[in-house]
Amino acid sequence: MIIGFDDTDSKTMGMCTTYLGALMLEEIPLPPDEITPYLLRLNPNVRFKTRGNAAVSLKLAPREDYVDDLWKICCELLEEFAVFDDENTNPGIVFLSEEEAAGMHRELERFSLRAVRDFITIDETKDFLKRHKIKHRGYKNGRGLIGALAAAGFALNGLSDWTYELVAYRKPENWGRRRSLNEETVWAADRASYPFTWDTVDHQNKKIVFSPHGPDPVLFGIRGSDQKRIMDAFRIIRSEPIDRYLIYTTNQGTDMHITEARIDDAREGRSYKIRGRVTAPPRTIHGGHVIFTIEDGSGEVDCAAYEPTKNFREVVRRLAPGDTVTVYGALKNQTINLEKIQIERLIPRRVLRNPLCGCGKRMKSVGKNQGYRCKRCGTRSDLPEIVEVDPGIRVGVYETPPVARRHLAKPLIRCNEGKVKTYPSR
Ligand code: ATP
Repeated sequence: MIIGFDDTDSKTMGMCTTYLGALMLEEIPLPPDEITPYLLRLNPNVRFKTRGNAAVSLKLAPREDYVDDLWKICCELLEEFAVFDDENTNPGIVFLSEEEAAGMHRELERFSLRAVRDFITIDETKDFLKRHKIKHRGYKNGRGLIGALAAAGFALNGLSDWTYELVAYRKPENWGRRRSLNEETVWAADRASYPFTWDTVDHQNKKIVFSPHGPDPVLFGIRGSDQKRIMDAFRIIRSEPIDRYLIYTTNQGTDMHITEARIDDAREGRSYKIRGRVTAPPRTIHGGHVIFTIEDGSGEVDCAAYEPTKNFREVVRRLAPGDTVTVYGALKNQTINLEKIQIERLIPRRVLRNPLCGCGKRMKSVGKNQGYRCKRCGTRSDLPEIVEVDPGIRVGVYETPPVARRHLAKPLIRCNEGKVKTYPSR
């Protein structure tokens, strides 16, 4: 049995769909280890999202005679906690029995993957639910059914790559107040568990990044590859009282949103991996954003390292026309928003200098296009000296820092790409 739900929260009025997951899990009369909670991140470019476009599903095996009660409990909890007053909150919930779903695995798998990589309409989702007689309830315009069905699909088919996130929630009386965390213990938790956990802190930008700032009930989330190490980190952290916590299995940090493409085939609002040649030197525009252009024979596209990507911009600034790169990121306003970049080939960086005279002194320029002359011995030269300089970057893969990381972006600490050198940002 799988329960999927989405779109229960509000940017301004709080709540979080993962919190509802934690509440449902507690209400279901099964031992917690018989329920697998999934936290799925869907297409980050969907404009209706509240924050990170998350949807949740629970996979469990209830007694057959309990399924109707379970449906009732889950709908009631959703109705109690979803922020119906926010006009952008349109909850949806679906119930999928594994037996009933037996004939639709592949179709649902494609649906879920499209929810991460593409856009899906409410009508098409309702049609899917009807055609396959999937138990569901959509509230208001029912948009949440899209995420709910996609999340259920991932729980049904499993994930080909996954990580974990422990989400810790605040006591309701503290919601909306400033979060209280003992910062030193957060840094200690990171030191004790990295690289099995990541994105707890950002060392280069000296920032704690695992805790949100809004009115939602989340105190913090510890992301990682190993549940035991995540728990070790959790036990080190001292904070305001924790109401409850839950470890989700998730597609965060997997690059599931990325598909390989040629520039010509890339479409707005989807995320790509594109290989190309730098055609114009990086330029820094108003606001500190760094932009450069690549071409791949099919077309040209701008790539941006925006100001929030901080030190990542230093790498991008050092690119030069002729370099070969593979960029990763979403196409937004006809620009690739960089999440990662692989520098594959750097053309030699050459600068021109006044030539060195045989007598040991550096010559002076005589005038524009008139060559050089040694002031000490009078020797002349028509040509300047060509010197190769260090490009200041190396071939390898670079990523945006934790402060700017997208939920789905695979951290380099998880990338074992064999011979390719990686430079994880921490
Ligand atoms: P939070 O991260 O706090 O849980 P959120 O960012 O997940 O919030 P939602 O409130 O869930 O935002 O809103 C996202 C809405 O977009 C949902 O209704 C969901 O069903 C819908 N949606 C998700 N993926 C797609 C997609 N690929 N195409 C169209 N709609 C989508």
